[in-house]
Amino acid sequence: MAISEHGGGGAHILVFPYPAQGHMIPLLDLTHHLALRNLTITILVTPKNLHFLKPLLIKHPSIQPLVLPFPPTDSIPDGVENVRDLPSGGFMYMMGALVHLYDPIVDWFRNHPSPPVAIVSDMFLGWTNRLAGELKISRYVFSPSGVMALSVIYNLWRHIPKRNDPRDENEVIEFRDIPNYPSYEWWKLSPLFRSYVEGGPHSEVLLASNVGNIESFGLIINSFTELERGYLDYMKKFLGHDRVWAVGPLLPSEEERVGRGGANEILAGEIKSWFDQFEDATVVYVCFGSQAVLTNKQMEMLALGLEKSGARFLWSCKEPTKGHKVGEYGIIPSGFEARVSGRGLIVRGWAPQVAILSHPAVGAFLTHCGWNSVLESIAAGVPMLTWPMGADQFANADLLDELKVGSRVCEGERTVPDSNKLARLVASSVSDENGAPIARAKVLSKAAQESIGKVGSSYKALDNLGDHFSKP
Ligand code: UDP
Repeated sequence: MAISEHGGGGAHILVFPYPAQGHMIPLLDLTHHLALRNLTITILVTPKNLHFLKPLLIKHPSIQPLVLPFPPTDSIPDGVENVRDLPSGGFMYMMGALVHLYDPIVDWFRNHPSPPVAIVSDMFLGWTNRLAGELKISRYVFSPSGVMALSVIYNLWRHIPKRNDPRDENEVIEFRDIPNYPSYEWWKLSPLFRSYVEGGPHSEVLLASNVGNIESFGLIINSFTELERGYLDYMKKFLGHDRVWAVGPLLPSEEERVGRGGANEILAGEIKSWFDQFEDATVVYVCFGSQAVLTNKQMEMLALGLEKSGARFLWSCKEPTKGHKVGEYGIIPSGFEARVSGRGLIVRGWAPQVAILSHPAVGAFLTHCGWNSVLESIAAGVPMLTWPMGADQFANADLLDELKVGSRVCEGERTVPDSNKLARLVASSVSDENGAPIARAKVLSKAAQESIGKVGSSYKALDNLGDHFSKP
């Protein structure tokens, strides 16, 4: 497949990202790779998310944005932020609202002189499979989750496991046909699935959406063969077909690392200068993704653990949003910054994470195990301290255990970490004791880089996908 700088001209596809940073960022990176493969691309967003497309549209002027008004809905309750059309803690409400884009998309499609031959849409937009059926085109699910985690999710929605005792949140659910037989206490399963079982809001949308994913024509997944080979083989068996493309890790180019997701360049420069004074692998980076905001008690114990560890660290903390009770979240304990001055840096808001992880001074990443964070850390060769909180993060943390590049620090969205345990693990993650995980992380990093290099498995999968769309 020939790579083109300008894109456009080939088969027309509609890309539809789900509006949350952890979902949108990798699908925009994928869109860039598809545009390089000469496809004609339309990308659908609601108005307040249009600005996220700016870097992509500058690089690929041939990509057409399709901006549809956010559907009128009364289904988003107070406290669930909707001001930027980005959900904050209200995934199922957002999913329920976006279903109302069905008719506007049909209208757009029917009036288009050369409408798309396929739709590539996020896994939280499973209803687009039904839409694709009506339009007589193929739907490809984009999974921003890894293959192991998706195997668990798909099993849940196909088999709908029951609990013996519906009040027992600790009842263990086993997945006997997935490689390595993962098992999880009920409370660790996907919150969307638990909400469905408990008859929560938009239950039927959730079920239809997930069944739509499993039944979709193809699956495009942000992972790479060498990382999850056994799970990929399993997934193909589970789906009953081979139309599965592992195209990851989807990462920004070197020049685009800093601005990704909206980080600011001045801050990135300051962070780099701060890191530059330290030796290799001596700083711990702490960040819990784009959504999680810690309670004040969690903040206090995390701060105490970092303080007691004596280690250098950069902690990126999210500010509370409208959905968080005022005064109960995200407060940095008073005096903390002064006490750790010189060895601890706190960044409030959005940090340039990919640039941070690629700095040689970073030796470990304390993460909530969001899949993008996991892949970014693997790509940078940085072992992780894991604190899975929800969604697919428990499966991701298990995969890191299996790969021996993760040490479990804490578990659960509401759990308050033990500051002594945290201090011990943080300190050892940047001490000489950590040689083995660092060496393993470097091996994975090499494999990741090779997979996206010209003869690598993910690069070839992207080529193959591009050709696949173009087939009559
Ligand atoms: N991210 C970032 N800066 C931040 C927080 C997050 O650049 O301060 C990026 C991070 O690099 C990753 C994404 O946002 O690409 C978060 O996705 P992930 O799957 O790790 O977690 P989620 O936000 O979905 O829980």
